[in-house]
Amino acid sequence: MSIEQADVVVIGLGTIGSAAAWQLSKRFDRVIGIEQFGLGHPFGGYTGESRLYRAAYHEGSMYVPLLMRARELWFELQKAAGRELFLPVGTLSVAPEGDTSIANVVKSVQEHDIPHEVFDADALRKRYPQFRVHDDDMAVLDLLGGGLRPELTVYSTQELARVNGATLYDHEQVYSIAEDGGHVTIRTSGRIIHAEHVVVTTGSWASELHPELASVIKVHPLVLTWFIPERLDDFLPEAFPTFIRDRDGVHFFGAPSLDGYSVKVSPDNLMPAVRTVADLPRVLPQSLLDSLGAKARSFFPALQPQPVHYSTHPEGFTANKVPIIDRSDSGRVVAITGLSGHGFKFTPVFGELAARLIADEQTELYDDRFSIAAHLAAVS
Ligand SMILES: Cc1cc2nc3c(=O)[nH]c(=O)nc-3n(C[C@H](O)[C@H](O)[C@H](O)COP(=O)(O)OP(=O)(O)OC[C@H]3O[C@@H](n4cnc5c(N)ncnc54)[C@H](O)[C@@H]3O)c2cc1C
Repeated sequence: MSIEQADVVVIGLGTIGSAAAWQLSKRFDRVIGIEQFGLGHPFGGYTGESRLYRAAYHEGSMYVPLLMRARELWFELQKAAGRELFLPVGTLSVAPEGDTSIANVVKSVQEHDIPHEVFDADALRKRYPQFRVHDDDMAVLDLLGGGLRPELTVYSTQELARVNGATLYDHEQVYSIAEDGGHVTIRTSGRIIHAEHVVVTTGSWASELHPELASVIKVHPLVLTWFIPERLDDFLPEAFPTFIRDRDGVHFFGAPSLDGYSVKVSPDNLMPAVRTVADLPRVLPQSLLDSLGAKARSFFPALQPQPVHYSTHPEGFTANKVPIIDRSDSGRVVAITGLSGHGFKFTPVFGELAARLIADEQTELYDDRFSIAAHLAAVS
């Protein structure tokens, strides 16, 4: 078995790991990334054609500086990659007036001066006739929001990391990480690496390498569904933004048609936690698909009743949905995981944060609420 040396090893080349490899490769000569599957695969948290970026964030104002830096970096990344990764179509939040979710969006756009438009029910019907609108509905269009291209993003950050000299190994599993005095030893299915630093970005597999995280991260299956609309033109990016729709305890989200025939209209966090990613259901019962279709049509009447296709994906959730970002006492190991269903929009800024923490660079963007200690305290 070969023995190698590295400045930094990134474990898990999915969403955040690939972005971290890109950012680290700007700062260090010997960056190695390791992925257990291919350098693009359908088993993790990032596939499914699109993700939403929102600046008006009902999850809390602690995220706003991160969101703003992420948006700058999205444009930097797509320029460097030479392909469109961020579709600036805006994000429309629709809910009954007074609903907590929309009240928080209104608060967020006002507090942070986010450019936006507000619609009452009549104005919403006129501007977006695709939606079934109830008289008590209102909407906020976040003009900084938009759609992201996840598969292309991961491909692009990996490509840029390689251009900068990083070495990326695929189909290689990391079995253990051990800090021993002057360095960190990483054992994989293919080699042993002695590294100065390690970034752990193993997503829904986090507790396999770090069993102490099993109590703070639960793996939930998330379902994506696509429907054929009566008139495709109504759902193309020119006419239709990314959206989140809340009503009667049902939460849906989606994006304009990117495949030229269907539109993504998907439920949020539908299913109970599974023990490991291997237990994820990949085939759903017809009764569930029928009921999802009925709910989707209650929001968009011009959709076909059943999804034309769907997929299930694992995602690690913390109890309060705050991601885990932590650096070991020695400063040698940084972990970013537990992104709780809302991590994709932060991809480039979490990649940058990982690199800054490793390089010991000053950053205002870290918050102690991200630490493992804060999460352990919350569940104890
Ligand atoms: C269906 C769905 C919809 C979502 N929608 C949105 C959205 O609209 N907006 C938003 O901001 N976020 C959204 N998210 C959240 C976002 O996509 C995820 O938070 C993010 O992709 C997770 O990134 P990650 O790097 O933690 O995990 P992943 O991208 O899954 O990467 C982890 C990688 O580590 C590898 N790995 C694990 N263990 C090992 C090992 N031992 N050795 C080697 N490699 C290993 C895995 O194979 C994998 O490639 C959504 C998530 C899902 C699932």
